[in-house]
Amino acid sequence: MLSDSGLRWVIVILSCALLGEAAATDPALPEPEHRVALHLHTTIGGDPKSPAQFMREAKAAGLAAVFITDHDYQRWEYGAWPARGLIKQRIDLPSALKLGAARYLQALAQADRLDPDVRVIDGMEAAPFYYWSGSYWDGSFTLNDRDKHLLVFGLDASGYEQMPLIANGRSHVDQYHGHQYAKPYQELIDYVVQRGGLIFWAHPSIKEVGKVRSVRLSTLPYEEMLVATDHYTGFAVYPTGGRLWEAGNLWDRVLREYCEGRRGQPAWAIGELDDHGDQPITGVATVIWAPERTRPALLEALRHGHMYVTYGQPGHPKVQWYAVRDAAANQVAFSGEELRLTGPAMLECTIASQSPGSSLKVLIIKDGVIIHEESGPSPLAVRWTDTAAAPTGGYHASGQKSYYRLYAQNSEGMQLLTNPIFVIAP
Ligand SMILES: [Zn+2]
Ligand SMILES: [Zn+2]
Repeated sequence: MLSDSGLRWVIVILSCALLGEAAATDPALPEPEHRVALHLHTTIGGDPKSPAQFMREAKAAGLAAVFITDHDYQRWEYGAWPARGLIKQRIDLPSALKLGAARYLQALAQADRLDPDVRVIDGMEAAPFYYWSGSYWDGSFTLNDRDKHLLVFGLDASGYEQMPLIANGRSHVDQYHGHQYAKPYQELIDYVVQRGGLIFWAHPSIKEVGKVRSVRLSTLPYEEMLVATDHYTGFAVYPTGGRLWEAGNLWDRVLREYCEGRRGQPAWAIGELDDHGDQPITGVATVIWAPERTRPALLEALRHGHMYVTYGQPGHPKVQWYAVRDAAANQVAFSGEELRLTGPAMLECTIASQSPGSSLKVLIIKDGVIIHEESGPSPLAVRWTDTAAAPTGGYHASGQKSYYRLYAQNSEGMQLLTNPIFVIAP
C-alpha cells in the first residue's frame, strides 16, 4: 500500500509522462497516415509470393496496403528481315496482361477481400518499349531497354489492356528502328493520364547489362527521362538506386521547371520495393495521408502528393507534423499543397525516430538548395521562418512560385524524404 507522499510521486511521475507526451505532440495532421508497400511482383508474373502472402506479411508489419505491380508483359520478339512474320523468335513469360487484365484484376480483388485490415491495390509495371541492336552473327545482338519501366495505377481492365506497348502491338513505334528517346514513354504517360490513371517512373537509376545465351541485355540508367517527359505523376525512390532526390539533382530540376511554369505537373516521390519475393516488406515505405484506406482515397492522395518516403531497417522515422504556415494570415498548407503567402513562410515539421534514444538531422530544401539544417534528439521539432532571400528562391518577385521539402536521417542511418509544399510569393 502506498503512503500519501508515495501516491503524490506516482501522480507527479504520471503527469510528467503525460506532459512529455503532450509537448512532443503537434496538432494532428488533417488526414491519418497509411503506411504501404509498393511495387510488388507476384505469382501471376512467375514470382514466388502470391498477393495473399504479401498481405500476410504486410499485416504482420502493420502496413495498411500492398500495391501489386506485375509486369504488363514479359514478351520480346525478334523477326529477321525481310521476312519478319515468317522467321520469328519470341520469348513470352507469365505476366498480368498475358493472363488478361480482367482476370488479373479479379485475382487481386479476390485477395483484397481476404482481410479487411490490408488493402490490395492493383497496378502494373509497364514497359512500353524495347529495341534490338547489333548483329545476330557477330555476337553484338542486343535487347535494349527491356528494364525501362513505369508503374501504372488506377486504370480499369480495358485501360490496362489497351496501353500503347510494343508487346501488344498498340505502340506507334517498333523494336527494329533503334532508340526512340522519350516518344514511346510519353505516349504511354499521355494515355494513362487521359484515362485518369497515375503513372510513375520506376527505378530510374537501374542498370542491367548481361547476356542470356547469345543475346546481350542492356538497360542503362534513364534518370534523364524525368526531365525529358512531362505530365507523369512522379518517380519511385529505390534506396540503393541513385540519389535523384538529393538537393539540386534532377528531381529539383523538375520541380523548379514546374514552379517556373515550364512543366505541367510537379513530380511526386513514392518509395518502391521492386520486390520479386526476396526482400523484407518493410524495406521501403510510402506513407500516404488519406481520409480513408480505400483504393480511390489512396490513389487520389498519391495523385496530389500527400505522401512521404522512408526507408532503412529496422523501423522508419515518422513525420508527425509537416506544414508551411503563413503566420500573418494564419493559414497552413500540407504536403503537395500550395499556399499564397501574405508574409514570410514558416516551415514546421516534427520528425520522430521509432528507435529509443535516436537523434535526427533534418534538412530543409528550398528550390533545390539546402537552406536550413537542424539536429537533435528524437522527436525533433523544427520551426523555421524563411526571411532570407535564398539563392534561387527569394521573395523578390511577387507571384513567384517556390517550394520546400524535407530530407531527414536518424542516427541509425534510416532516411526520410517528403514531397514538396509550394508557396507563391506575396
Ligand atoms: Zn522494373
Ligand atoms: Zn518491378
